[in-house]
Parts: sequence; structure tokens; C-alpha cells
Amino acid sequence: MNQETEQRNQNPNWPSYVAVALFVALAYYFLMYAPTMEPSYEIPYNQFKSLVKEGVVKDVVLRGEVVQGTLASTRPMGPRGEPSARFRTRIPSFGDDTLLPVLEDREVRIHIAEEKEKGILATLLLSFLPLALLLLFFYFIFQRTSKTLGGRLGGAAELKNLLEAPAKKAEVPKVTFDDVAGQDTAKREVTELVEFLKNPEMFSKLGAEVPRGVLLMGAPGTGKTLMAKALAGEAGVPFYSISGSEFIEVFVGVGAGRVRNLFETAKKNAPSIVFIDELDSIGRTRGTGLGGGHDEREQTLNQILAELDGFTGRENVIVLAATNRPDVLDPALLRPGRFDRHVTLDLPDRNDRMAIIKVHTRKVPLAKDVDLGSIAAGTPGFSGADIKNLVNEAAMLAGRNKRDQVMMQDFDEARDKLLLGTVRTLAIKPEERHRLAVHEGGHTLVAYFLPHADPLYKVTIIPRGRALGGTQQLPEEERHTLPEEYLQDRLAVILGGRSAEKELLGSLSSGADDDIHQASTLARAMVARWGMSTDVGPVDLRESEEHPFLGREIAQPRRYSEHSAQTVDEAVRKLIVEAEQRAVEIISQYRQQLDQLIDQLEAKETLNREDIEQCLGPVRNKTSLGSVRV
Ligand code: ADP
Ligand code: ZN
Repeated sequence: MNQETEQRNQNPNWPSYVAVALFVALAYYFLMYAPTMEPSYEIPYNQFKSLVKEGVVKDVVLRGEVVQGTLASTRPMGPRGEPSARFRTRIPSFGDDTLLPVLEDREVRIHIAEEKEKGILATLLLSFLPLALLLLFFYFIFQRTSKTLGGRLGGAAELKNLLEAPAKKAEVPKVTFDDVAGQDTAKREVTELVEFLKNPEMFSKLGAEVPRGVLLMGAPGTGKTLMAKALAGEAGVPFYSISGSEFIEVFVGVGAGRVRNLFETAKKNAPSIVFIDELDSIGRTRGTGLGGGHDEREQTLNQILAELDGFTGRENVIVLAATNRPDVLDPALLRPGRFDRHVTLDLPDRNDRMAIIKVHTRKVPLAKDVDLGSIAAGTPGFSGADIKNLVNEAAMLAGRNKRDQVMMQDFDEARDKLLLGTVRTLAIKPEERHRLAVHEGGHTLVAYFLPHADPLYKVTIIPRGRALGGTQQLPEEERHTLPEEYLQDRLAVILGGRSAEKELLGSLSSGADDDIHQASTLARAMVARWGMSTDVGPVDLRESEEHPFLGREIAQPRRYSEHSAQTVDEAVRKLIVEAEQRAVEIISQYRQQLDQLIDQLEAKETLNREDIEQCLGPVRNKTSLGSVRV
């Protein structure tokens, strides 16, 4: 608090107040006067007279020969029929004796004004005032920003006070490493830093420098922020945070100023932690584009680099930054002395998910039937944040049902909601519903009888989110590589829905849109990346690079010949056609079971694993791999 007042006194910020005052005046002016500024049109004298006779003129102002009038309601008055209730006209200089009686007769209110039109100056002023105010306002802004751009005279300070969201109040976080479940490797690396923060003298006596920058890398929600906070909490030091995305501001120079401020405060309160979230949004490779946004980013980035370099090694401030795109970071950020320690946080595996669920259900009253292990098994691909969300969603469902304990069914429902979206109430026609049951039944049957496909978890024809129905399979364990047989079976499962429609109903529908997309993407990867086609061989012919964390495709120019492209296309088609044939074979072989399954599905809408087994016979012991939903 003290620092803040001190700063205010150093940088008198009256120009900011002036700017605000101007802005308010301007807004007020527009609000007050804009509605009355309806245009007034010049009309012929005889038209004026007939309007009066019609009785639609409300009042008139007579100023010498000039008449200004208002109608009771708007009418097309302008030369091109523009609507208005205001008009003006001129009385002949020799007068019109018949006018006044008519006006009186029609009960028009008559004002007689002074002849000299003093209004003209006022009108002029009134119409130019807003423009002048606007120009003034922009002039101020321009002055402030150009000052910062130029000599960094601290000109940003006033504007900053005006616009800056106050730096988050620094406190020692209450979070500790106990709140971070799993992530053992990352935790170990970060734990080392606790000693640096707690016992700086011990290290400086030995001549060791405190590490400065630690880059936390990992998919969104893997606990990067949590980890940084836990470090501060564990060491008992204040935590200063700022997010890269906050810097995308309209006014150039604000970001750099805030970085400077943040580091200053952190140094004053050392030992402390500075946390920069979403570093990639400012720390992208420089010089990749033009325009204000980039200038701003570059300035902010440069400021961060300058701050990191400005450390003497005795400040005892550790800077942690988080990113989910380490690949796009400017190499300058990763140089020794900057963010040279890298800690990777992975999506949790089954055991870690179990641990995270335990952390987040500490304060949740659980019913006896809740099996945390099977929740962990049923949530592959969930991040820590997703799991937190799941627990919260389940608790809310229990609350909505007025129960005082959270039951397994709440977790199930919450999981489906997160994975597939909320249940939609859609009016589905009976024949459409039947097709849906056939489609999902097809996926399920093929998944059930193919030896390498994942075990089934649930099949439903209740529309959720964007999907009309769904067949879910769940792996018993996560696998990090996918064998060829598994992928081939998976292709057949994906195409099973469509095949069932074709076999049983004799026609196709657009319902397989996403299936075909999935199958094509998978088959293409098998051919062009994993060398699973003998016609192509182990050659990398992928079209795009997949991002390591986000799975997002990054477009790349093609680096292979037209001929190769054609070979890939043919091999992809071959894989898909083969898979479809296998699906069709299973469908005709187990046609009776499929019919039963479809009946059940139409009757119950959702079938779980036991229902499916009852319907299709005992399940084989399957080796399971990745997770699929089709
Ligand atoms: P990130 O910064 O990587 O996007 P966050 O740290 O913001 O992720 O995580 C969001 C929330 O998810 C955390 O506040 C925490 O409640 C939960 N969470 C994430 N990872 C874990 C974990 N390993 N253990 C416990 N909770 C976690
Ligand atoms: Zn499908």
C-alpha cells in the first residue's frame, strides 16, 4: 500500500484524470443531446401549409421569415423520404395573412422568436464540440504512449494507473506439495528449490547461485500453476503472478511497465516467487509479424529478458513460467541464466488420477458405493483440472438431487456430461431412433467380437452434446504405443456403425460423418506415419506436424512427390475397405445377437457393460489398449 502511494506522488497523474473527465463529458453530451438532434428538413411553403391544415403540426417557431416546426409524429420529410418530425420553411417576404388563423384554428403552439438568429454560433459549437473532445482525448493517449515508446520516460505510469488491473496482491499461498497429487518427477525437481528459498545464506556462502528461471511445461490443467503456488506455500514466500495473455492490451508499453513493476515488488519482498502464466502468448519467436500487437508483445518479452538478466544472483527471486507450447518459445528465453531449468508435467496416468481424486474428494462426503479406483480407470486422458471438475460436477448433481452424500451414479453422470456434453432433449422420430440404435449397435457388436478392441463401457442412444448417440470403450490400462492389430480392429469398430446401417437398413445416412473422418485420419496416420502399409513402407509422408501436447495440427508444406501422395491415398483406402469388410463379416456372423442388442437399446436407451454381456454372451478376456468413442 505504501509503495503505491509513494509512486502516485512521484508521477503526478493529473493528465489521466483530465482524460477521464473528457471522456465522461463526451459520453454525457452524446447521451443528452444525441436524441434531440433529429435532422430538420427544408420543405416547400405550400407543403407546410397543407401539413398545418391536416392538423399534424404540433408547434412552430416563427423567426422573421423563417419557420421551424415539429410534427406530432415522424413522417417522410427529407428529399429522399427520410423520416423526421422536424422541418423548416420560409414565409413569403410580403407575408401571408391566412397563415395565422389556420395555425390558431388547428391549435398549433406558436412561438415568436427574436429575428436575429443567435442560434447559429451555438449550433456550430454544439456540432463541433464532440469532435474536438474526441481529438483531444486521442491526443492525450497518443502523447502518453509515444512517450513510453520513445525514451521510456515513465510516461506509461499515468496511463498505467488509469488502466492497470492492480498487481495481484501477494500472499503466501496456502497450497503445499500435499495438494499436488502424482507428478512425482516434477515435484522432485521443484522441491529442490524450496531449500534455496528457505536458506539462501547457506547457498551463497558456498558461492552457489540461486537458479532463476524454471519453465513448467505441460498440457492445460496438468497443475503448472498449482505446482508454482505449492512451491511458494512450501517455502513460505509470497507469490506474484501475471499471465501472458493479460498483455495483449490496446496501449503499447503497458505490458513492459507491468513486468518492471512486478519484478521490482518481488525483489523488494524477496525471497519470493514470480509466476508468469501462458508465457507462450508473449514469448513466441520474435520478429514473426507486423503490427501493434506484436510490438507490444516484443516489448514485454524484452522486458522479461532484461529483468532475468538484471538479477545479480543474490536476489532470491525464483521466476517460474508456464507454457503448453514450449515449441514456439523464443530460443532467447531458454538460454542459460534465463529459463534454463525445464520441468515437464504429464497428463496423469491411472494411479496419479486415483491420487488426484483422493485429493479433491477430501472434503466430499462419499457414499459407500463410490469406488475411486474405477473412477480413475474410467477417466483416461483427464487432466488434474478435469478431475477437479468431475468431482465438483458430481457433488453438484448430488446436491441437486437433495442427497447428502455423493454416489457412484453422480460420478458416472458427471463423467458422461464432461466427456459427451449434457443430455439434449431432442424430438427424434421413431425411424430415426431405430437407425440410431442400429448404428450404435453396429459399433458395439464389432467392438465386442473383435479380439483386440477395447472392452465396452457403455452404449447409448440418448443425444448428448453434439452426438446423437455413442458407443464408449474403455481401456483397462493405458498404453503408450498402439500395435497394428489393435489399430486395425479399431478401424473396424469405427466403421461398424455405418456397416450395420447398410446391412440392416439397406441404406446409409449422414450419421457416420464423424466416424468416416476418424477412420480416415487414423488410417492415414497408420500409412503415412507408422509405416503400416507394405505399399508405402516405413517412410514419413505425413501432411502435417502434430503438436506434442495439444494434438493440434500445424500445417506444413508437402515434402513428397505427387506419386507418393497417390500411393498413400490408395493405401489408406485399402485399409479402410478391409476394415469395413471385417465389420460386415462380424455383423452377418452375429446377426441374431445384433438384432437383440438393437431391441434392448431401443427399450432401455443406455446399456452398460453387464447389459451388453447379457445380450451378446460371455465376454472374452481382452487385452485392452487406447480409449475409443465412436
Ligand atoms: P495449469 O496451470 O497447468 O493449466 P492448474 O494448475 O491451473 O493447471 O490446474 C487447475 C486445477 O486442477 C488446480 O487448481 C488443481 O485443483 C487441479 N489439479 C491439477 N493438477 C493437479 C494435481 N496433480 N493434483 C491435484 N490437483 C490438480
Ligand atoms: Zn458412429
